[in-house]
Amino acid sequence: MNSVAAEGIISVTALCKSCDHCTPICPTGAITGKLGEQHHIDQKKCINCGQCLINCPSGIIKDQSMIAEIKAALTDPKKFVVVQTAPAVRVALGEEFGKEPGYNAKGKMFASLRKLGFDKVYDTEFTADLTIMEEGTELINRVFKAVGQPGYEESGPLPQFTSCCPAWIKYAEDNYPKILPHLSTAKSPQQMFGALAKTYLPQKLNIDPADVYSVSVMPCTAKKYECNRPEMISSGHQDVDAVITTRELAQMIKDVGIDFNILVDEQADSFIGQSTGAATIFGVTGGVMEAALRTAYELLSGQTLDKIELKAVRGLAPVREATVPVPIKALGNTVFPVKVAIITGTKHVGQVIEDVLAGKLDYHFIEVMNCPGGCINGGGQPIRRDA
Ligand code: SF4
Ligand code: SF4
Ligand code: SF4
Repeated sequence: MNSVAAEGIISVTALCKSCDHCTPICPTGAITGKLGEQHHIDQKKCINCGQCLINCPSGIIKDQSMIAEIKAALTDPKKFVVVQTAPAVRVALGEEFGKEPGYNAKGKMFASLRKLGFDKVYDTEFTADLTIMEEGTELINRVFKAVGQPGYEESGPLPQFTSCCPAWIKYAEDNYPKILPHLSTAKSPQQMFGALAKTYLPQKLNIDPADVYSVSVMPCTAKKYECNRPEMISSGHQDVDAVITTRELAQMIKDVGIDFNILVDEQADSFIGQSTGAATIFGVTGGVMEAALRTAYELLSGQTLDKIELKAVRGLAPVREATVPVPIKALGNTVFPVKVAIITGTKHVGQVIEDVLAGKLDYHFIEVMNCPGGCINGGGQPIRRDA
């Protein structure tokens, strides 16, 4: 277990200017204090998303840091320190070093991580593919159960909700325990990578799993909470030992004087094989649902899915939905219309959950991401005071 408490990742410092700008931003009503008063965070309600942090005009909301222990691991000769990097980090990191918007800085990011001393540098895209396969397969099993196919009685209920946003998961656990059987059981890409880093990787490299120290670079403060969840120890060792945000990686690079922009691009180390690239869209709203639905569609129909046309749902903004007719090969090409929805912002999910539980909505697959536009605007991304 690292030094960061599983609760209390985000806190308001005593330098609060009492402007109340953060209160309406918080999706869970966790911020207490009125205009003119010191504000605080009610940790029981907080889902660690960091949206208040990146939007506080005075920059006085802080997230707990794991940098000191990562530095200690990097200088410990017994530790084999591996790092994974999420898809939403690379463009934001480039912008932090003055690159034009949209520039993909992954080659320089991999080079800078090696300069910081990491023994192996990996891309989380590979385990994002695994999450997609898991979620897609689980959706198929739930669809088969719904159409009465024998052998699928133990599958979960529809609709299936995505499970890779730890802020949304905590919100569901805290507020809507009845919806939990509907959440996909797939681990997030960060945690799938962590599990492999403590199981498959030590076997492959012939090292003791106890000596592996697993770090992730994420656009997200809630990932610090996720890595400390007590169930995330599939190997008997904590799957992900420490998380740093995009912001913190930029700071670590600057602190040791690495000239990021003159670095020669490098590749990530190869873990098992190449990723499909499908997971690159994970960082934007709708990406997880689309990638998992494409997988499910191909497995069920043997065909490739064309573009998914999403439309806004009247009265349920910002919810978008689509219906995708899926011919199921195993059922003689019987067409099952899979109805999907995408919800951006945890504050909008409550009504949808209540309607699902009341049987008023007939969705089969629902993606929920907490941050506006998805992880590209996560609470761990660089802060733009001029935006
Ligand atoms: S936005 Fe920042 S300075 Fe303003 S009340 Fe919230 S924490 Fe305090
Ligand atoms: S981290 Fe997110 S949930 Fe917690 S207080 Fe800030 S905005 Fe609210
Ligand atoms: S949307 Fe992405 S960045 Fe935001 S809390 Fe969820 S996983 Fe983290």
